[in-house]
Amino acid sequence: MKPRIVVTVDLERDFPNGLHGSYLGITEGLPNLRGVLEELDVLADFFVSQEVAERFGTAIRDLKAKGHYLGSHGSQHGYLCKMDAKAQYQDISKSTETLSELLSSRPVFFRAPQFGADGNTIMALEDLGYQVDSSVLPGRLVRQRFFRKVLDFTDAPLGVYNPSHEDITKEGQSPIVEIPLTENSLRRGTPLGMGFVNSEGAEAAIAASRANKGEYITFLIHPWECIDIVESFPHLPRHLANECSSDMSDFRRMLEELLDLGESTNLVHLANEYKGVKTQ
Ligand SMILES: [Zn+2]
Repeated sequence: MKPRIVVTVDLERDFPNGLHGSYLGITEGLPNLRGVLEELDVLADFFVSQEVAERFGTAIRDLKAKGHYLGSHGSQHGYLCKMDAKAQYQDISKSTETLSELLSSRPVFFRAPQFGADGNTIMALEDLGYQVDSSVLPGRLVRQRFFRKVLDFTDAPLGVYNPSHEDITKEGQSPIVEIPLTENSLRRGTPLGMGFVNSEGAEAAIAASRANKGEYITFLIHPWECIDIVESFPHLPRHLANECSSDMSDFRRMLEELLDLGESTNLVHLANEYKGVKTQ
């Protein structure tokens, strides 16, 4: 049986971890991406950051009108797991309110910026009415100054689970359903996503998807990966520039290969999946 496919898009400013304050991904990349998705009748799950919701309300409402699914990507793009429980709650609450007002409905799925979620994130999501989190990227390990671990998902489950409040990578009592991202089997700790398709091509991405052992393939797209970024940022390191392209033909070929559409489709959405998952 083919794995279930979730097409996820993190709507945020360009290269949010760098110093760029631009939104070319939203104004130029998103229309490129939507062109392919809508031609193939593929609805995607979009995680919207507060700064995008505040600036591009019409574009976000239009995604909803087309039937795409909208969840939250937090308010700023820092690591939530570096904040205490109260600060995390305030941060997620603020972005949730902005998105709820814009869409006239509350988001039910969430992805932490930079995958930076922990047990306190899960508790805040419970309190704010969320059902699904998709922040855990198995294999990811981030260290900062003095080799202190910022996050360690090296042993996180590949499949769906209810996380523990003490350790998000362990099964526990939370009613939140964690649907992890898919680690690129060819590049430890990195997501399977548009950047890889652009730099390595459709066949490599199809092979990496087939090598995945999880029951889902949660594919990650950033809108700035859908434009020819060097035209605007000529000094970008080559490896980053290679991950961005306005040519969507490899992405299209990959989707056509991995996705069955129609009645018995393997395309699924985070906002629906939790209903089928047994919670404790
Ligand atoms: Zn992000």
